Amino acid sequence: MEGRIVKVSGPLVIAESMENAKMYDVVRVSDKRLIGEIIEIHGDRASIQVYEETSGLGPGEPVYSTNEPLSVELAPGLIESMFDGIQRPLDVIRSEVGDNITRGVEVNSIDRKRKWMFKPTVKKGDKVIAGDIIGTVKETSIIEHRIMIPIGVEGVIDDIKEGEFTVTDIVATVKNGSEVKEIQMLQKWPVRRGRPYVEKLAPDSPMGTGQRIIDTFFPVAKGGTACIPGPFGSGKTVVQHQLAKWADAEIVVYIGCGERGNEMTDVLMEFPELKDPKSGEPLMKRTVLIANTSDMPVAAREASIYTGITIAEYFRDMGYSVALMADSTSRWAEALREMSGRLEEMPGEEGYPAYLGSKLAEFYERAGKVICYGSDKREGALTAVGAVSPPGGDLSEPVTQGTLRIVKVFWGLDADLAYKRHFPAINWLQSYSLYEDSLGEWLSNEVSPEWNGLVAEAMKLLQEEAELQEIVRLVGIDALSVRDRWTLESAKSIREDYLHQNAFHDIDTYTSVNKQYRMLKAIMMFHSEGIKALDAGAFLSEITNLPVKESIARAKLILENNLDAFDSIEKDIKHQMSSIVSNGGV
Ligand code: ADP
Ligand code: MG
Repeated sequence: MEGRIVKVSGPLVIAESMENAKMYDVVRVSDKRLIGEIIEIHGDRASIQVYEETSGLGPGEPVYSTNEPLSVELAPGLIESMFDGIQRPLDVIRSEVGDNITRGVEVNSIDRKRKWMFKPTVKKGDKVIAGDIIGTVKETSIIEHRIMIPIGVEGVIDDIKEGEFTVTDIVATVKNGSEVKEIQMLQKWPVRRGRPYVEKLAPDSPMGTGQRIIDTFFPVAKGGTACIPGPFGSGKTVVQHQLAKWADAEIVVYIGCGERGNEMTDVLMEFPELKDPKSGEPLMKRTVLIANTSDMPVAAREASIYTGITIAEYFRDMGYSVALMADSTSRWAEALREMSGRLEEMPGEEGYPAYLGSKLAEFYERAGKVICYGSDKREGALTAVGAVSPPGGDLSEPVTQGTLRIVKVFWGLDADLAYKRHFPAINWLQSYSLYEDSLGEWLSNEVSPEWNGLVAEAMKLLQEEAELQEIVRLVGIDALSVRDRWTLESAKSIREDYLHQNAFHDIDTYTSVNKQYRMLKAIMMFHSEGIKALDAGAFLSEITNLPVKESIARAKLILENNLDAFDSIEKDIKHQMSSIVSNGGV
């Protein structure tokens, strides 16, 4: 089928004589064969979102249909790859056509020549259904790629191979009646459609991040959703990188939707340098990176989050826990806004299309903890975390508001905290996690029955601090009772000794929940013992001068394998408090 261009408006091309085209079909535009996707059809007219620079294109030029939806390739070779928004491998494009991506290049997403050692896990005669794992490939030193029967295929294994194969070699055949299906390691999936699963489960265990303010106060569940809105420079990217490194997930999919030209170059330079703390290997050994380079038009950003989440779903389906980070979804929404404007759709708030909210929902709904396809009923999880960059940090804007209506965790970054160099600059009074209850139960069982009580008490102190600070601002510190001043001291300790966490410090960068529990317990014990001492007549200055206060401040640097050190801190707290009471006091 062949259509003709009638109009070109930036990344939008209108073509006629397209009566056989379907929504979301990929087309090739002009003899330059630019890649585009049909996003609207009226009669024989199709609106095409073109993923490459359209300058020089004009009416009358041909449009070729591929009759296939925009899809990703799924096979060994995904991990360690860096793709653009429509899954073109950046390194291959670079080496073939240089730094400025030539238009219309045809490259495979997955290397066709590379051979992989395929080890079968089924034998001839075994019955298989969609999702069943028929073999494995050691994709990197730390990731085993599980080769699954594609969706829509079932039957009996007729032939199964073992040895070195390319992704398009036939590794198995499946017989169903008289029909025989050939199975290769490579599968395709249309990016706009979520990959199926048997059942969605309630997310009930935490995805630990090693970041104290997150795990303790605003935890995210495995298979959950979270967002990080914040103005420029408040720490969105640092938090996303920390999650990529430390989150309790086996696979990382990182989507970079850069704002400024060189920011993506930074991601492409920095990410390969990141070390995986768990394995000591480069983090890329379990990462798929998607980056919209600045020389790609806005439309490719729009596709990138779908490309990313489809790849993430594929690893989820293998039974992995996958963490997907999108930085920043505002750039994606802006691409949506630009296309909508060119389509002359009725604009909604601030020019965003009225369907912004439902598009955001469709994206985040693809996260979840699920029972995967396949007869072993394995579980997989896909956790989605999106950064949002509201202009001027104004959270009332449509992308932030649309996101907050869907996601269950809100980590609100605060320009003032960032300015004061309190990092992570997550505002503890604004942020929330709707998983608090279900995860609280898990943490109470797995870490300590005291966990929830300690967390609630600590949060109460932080809230009281805000109220007391208001009073101090109005009438001065003299208006406060000694007990109130002690509250301020303890809240300060929670902020400085606990919430503040340096991402770039070797030890401080990660804290296990067990260590978080011991740290918080020490701070709260110092607080409650302090109240007792004050009640027994001790002076506030005596308490704040106790040497153990210094040990509490340095507790973040206690090594993970030396948590017994907290026993002596607790002993010192009791001992030193009782000594001031028996010395001075009543
Ligand atoms: P954004 O992506 O919101 O524009 P960045 O993530 O690039 O902001 O953070 C800006 C700077 O703030 C970083 O370069 C770093 O110096 C500092 N920063 C942010 N978070 C932390 C942290 N957790 N620990 C230490 N420094 C941080
Ligand atoms: Mg950033």
